[in-house]
Amino acid sequence: MRFPVVHLRFLPASGMAIFPFVLIKYPELKQDRQIINHELIHLRQQLELLILPFFLLYLINYLVNLIKYRSHHQAYRNIVFEREAYTHDSNYSYLRSRRFFAWIAYI
Ligand SMILES: [Zn+2]
Repeated sequence: MRFPVVHLRFLPASGMAIFPFVLIKYPELKQDRQIINHELIHLRQQLELLILPFFLLYLINYLVNLIKYRSHHQAYRNIVFEREAYTHDSNYSYLRSRRFFAWIAYI
């Protein structure tokens, strides 16, 4: 499945996924396979959660982590969706073999 990659200079991160778009901060990041793969994993997570519940769970998970870790970076890196994406974003065939709701294993 192909998704449009959009360049947005004001993006607060290098990459971001908001179904059906992959957003990147710099145009050259379009060639960065790992960042693109990371965002494609998030698009798959969003699709299986029917988009909106993904963002709700993502935010709740971040806030709970923020209380737990008292650090933005730790809270962000320990969001279950980020754990799955960071674990597999350098495996470019991951999405071909990924099981449905695979992120649950990262709770
Ligand atoms: Zn991510």
